[in-house]
Amino acid sequence: MADRFRSFGLATPPAARAIHADDAIALLKGGQAKEGSLLAYGNGRSYGDSCQNQAGAVVDMRTLNRIRVFNAETGVLEADAGVLLSDIIAHAAPYGFFPAVVPGTQFVTLGGAIANDVHGKNHHRRGTFGCHVESFTLLRSDGKTYRCSATDNPRLFAATIGGMGLTGLILSASIRLMRVPSLDIVETTTPFRDLGEFFDLAEAADQANEYAVAWIDQIAGGRNSGRGLLFAGNHAEHGSHAASRAGGSLAVPFQPPFNVLNRPFLTAFNAAYRWKKGRATAPRQTSYRSFFFPLDGMRDWNRLYGPKGLFQHQSVMPEEAARTVVPELLAAARRAGQGSFLTVLKRFGSIRSPALLSFPRPGCTLTLDFPNKGAATHALLGELDRITIGAGGAVNPYKDARMSAATFAASFAGWPRLEALRDPAFMSDFWARTAGGIDLRRRGAEAAE
Ligand SMILES: Cc1cc2nc3c(=O)[nH]c(=O)nc-3n(C[C@H](O)[C@H](O)[C@H](O)COP(=O)(O)OP(=O)(O)OC[C@H]3O[C@@H](n4cnc5c(N)ncnc54)[C@H](O)[C@@H]3O)c2cc1C
Repeated sequence: MADRFRSFGLATPPAARAIHADDAIALLKGGQAKEGSLLAYGNGRSYGDSCQNQAGAVVDMRTLNRIRVFNAETGVLEADAGVLLSDIIAHAAPYGFFPAVVPGTQFVTLGGAIANDVHGKNHHRRGTFGCHVESFTLLRSDGKTYRCSATDNPRLFAATIGGMGLTGLILSASIRLMRVPSLDIVETTTPFRDLGEFFDLAEAADQANEYAVAWIDQIAGGRNSGRGLLFAGNHAEHGSHAASRAGGSLAVPFQPPFNVLNRPFLTAFNAAYRWKKGRATAPRQTSYRSFFFPLDGMRDWNRLYGPKGLFQHQSVMPEEAARTVVPELLAAARRAGQGSFLTVLKRFGSIRSPALLSFPRPGCTLTLDFPNKGAATHALLGELDRITIGAGGAVNPYKDARMSAATFAASFAGWPRLEALRDPAFMSDFWARTAGGIDLRRRGAEAAE
């Protein structure tokens, strides 16, 4: 059973033990959960070890999957925490509503989206997922269920949004959906020759569009370095209100014994994908699934990275640093001879999240995916961390499986405030590796004084 409880990168071991949500609820309500013994598991779309707890058990939240109430006037939806975003979309679409924030896959749970305070292609307009949470119920190991909102238990509310599952089990939540004229998107695609051109285009694209994101051809060097495509879009005035919960009909049926997404593949893919010179395409109307969730079209595509899996590195840096730091990050990956299949660049806006710890902050965010080649990949990722932190940026914890305690502390100076509100029964491998390490060192230093 535990093998089903992997994280998306497949580079860390699967959960050692998994338990049913009802059993975890009984343990917590009876005040019997031991220290560090639990961690909620949503749908495992986090890339690394923030959804794993090797020393204890992960709690399968997917059985709590009821949509309880939907108000078709206000767009407020209340659901169990294990409901998938795909189900929320399918439920609300006929009434003209859509989640205000969606990540690049619709197969994440409501609880997982809150716990990681996920962001989408419209961060500049809507902020993070947490900005649209009205309230939730949180079960803690003192046996009590807390209703949390901006006014009820506000400290737990802020700590749980972006709290990576460490403050307890979110049982259910109410979120505000966004009214949209249709699910379809009118999309424009604008090629850019280099990063300078991207930065010139990106601000205007954000101003004119609900959604904007760029793909970079990370392999291209020399005069093609930094070329890419800027995708921007708005909901179509006239379009479909039909949603589908299903994944794609294509699937990777077995684990290939090697990384299929290798350098020759990437070079051919990028060439085929119109990275060439060209003019902006005329606006075209496309389905929400192909605009937001293109990767959901092929189930288990992460297996293409081979049995050792992949690492994702997502950094954010202040806007003023981005023009020099993004090229530096791309150059470091090229020098290391590592090709990134998905290289995504986007501007974050300045809307503040209610979360205590949230990854997005004003500036630019770059996401790179690398096949796991052991020490060489670790060395590259360490180099990317160093460049990011040196520029005053941060590295995303829920995409990570190996960052150092120092990188985490530099990325999230406020982490001790989350530690103070962490439920003692909850722990993740990520937290033990990062905050745990800092805490132990600090306690050691205090003891030595
Ligand atoms: C293809 C792809 C594209 C992605 N694109 C984006 C993107 O654009 N933007 C973005 O921000 N992220 C993105 N992600 C990451 C993904 O959105 C997040 O990791 C998300 O939080 C995963 O949700 P999950 O339900 O799978 O939760 P899991 O990965 O299983 O868990 C995530 C965290 O939530 C906690 N948790 C889960 N359920 C509960 C609960 N009921 N109570 C308390 N804590 C809980 C877990 O303990 C863990 O810390 C992407 C991932 C993939 C695979």
